[in-house]
Amino acid sequence: MKTKIGLLYGGKSAEHKVSLQTALAVIKALDLEKFEIHPIYINVEGQWIKGPQLTAPAENVKALEFSNENQLSPLSLAPTLFSNSEKQNNEPLDVIFPLLHGPNGEDGTVQGLLELLNLPYVGNGVLASAAGMDKVMMKNVFAQAGLAQVNYVAFIRTEWEKARDSVYAKVEEQLGYPCFVKPANLGSSVGISKCTNRTELEAAFVEAFQFDRKVIIEEGVTAREIEVGILGNDDPKCSIAGEIVPKKDFYDYKAKYEDGDTALIIPADVTEEEYQQIKEMAIQAFKALDCSGLVRADFFLTKDGKALINEVNTMPGFTPFSMFPLLWKHTGVEYPQLIETLVDLAKERHAEKQ
Ligand code: ATP
Ligand code: MG
Ligand code: MG
Ligand code: MG
Repeated sequence: MKTKIGLLYGGKSAEHKVSLQTALAVIKALDLEKFEIHPIYINVEGQWIKGPQLTAPAENVKALEFSNENQLSPLSLAPTLFSNSEKQNNEPLDVIFPLLHGPNGEDGTVQGLLELLNLPYVGNGVLASAAGMDKVMMKNVFAQAGLAQVNYVAFIRTEWEKARDSVYAKVEEQLGYPCFVKPANLGSSVGISKCTNRTELEAAFVEAFQFDRKVIIEEGVTAREIEVGILGNDDPKCSIAGEIVPKKDFYDYKAKYEDGDTALIIPADVTEEEYQQIKEMAIQAFKALDCSGLVRADFFLTKDGKALINEVNTMPGFTPFSMFPLLWKHTGVEYPQLIETLVDLAKERHAEKQ
């Protein structure tokens, strides 16, 4: 019997386009002899649209952006509803693969729905997804776990609107320049600015608040950027390390998805000691956030060999050219096998809950 996968992609998020790329790649890699693929597209308005079961890989992203004629209530994914509606010849899906990045998908909302529907799903649960999406919560958890990281402060929009100058003064006093201003809940570097003076800081706050009601400001470090992938549930494994070398000032959205001239170096040229430090911290971070399935953990490695955790991504970029799959490929897990492992981990986690 084939495993029926409900592939959820798109999403009401600034990372919608990235998700479409990922979905296309995953569809191409899934073995249709073993899997049935049922695409479910979430458009930018947040409508869920059921596509036809795929009997061949989609040609391009356009072919996955279904128009909203076949709108689906998210609740109709419930196994009982799927199996009872014999008229439509629907059968329950075996596992949902939420290939969603950013808010409304990577943040625990969709995961909560899938929990209620009692459906197995790939990746992190509600808590890890929510805490991993909110950079302030994530860093608070890391601090509690004793993980080394940069200093940070956070503000909500109304606090800033009431007293902008004192907010800026606080940032300057506690962090100084350079600093990074980020929407608390996002990814793909959307809305992130590096600031070296007050004028840039003011513009950065305006920018970041366009994406979230909360922003985080971090001390800027000059360091190498090293990433590892973690795979597993209760006994997570760490991949080899990779390094990101942006050609620009920092690894911004354009460098990630448009210019494509950022070098990914795998394996990263780090010492055994540095690798062990990063690996331990990554697994500690995974456990501290109660993660499952996968995360990509991003680090700064300073000149004197000290690792600082920057963040984890609970649904990292997942095309065959993205860091997470490349890290596993170099660790010995090819892309199709990686996807199958994630499906197995989803079933394992679901079975443990029953
Ligand atoms: P993604 O989820 O795609 O990895 P993100 O939107 O969560 O990205 P971060 O990874 O936090 O954003 O930051 C994006 C990039 O900005 C980093 O890869 C790094 O190049 C730079 N950067 C972020 N924070 C700092 C910092 N505190 N010091 C120096 N550089 C930073
Ligand atoms: Mg991130
Ligand atoms: Mg991300
Ligand atoms: Mg990152």
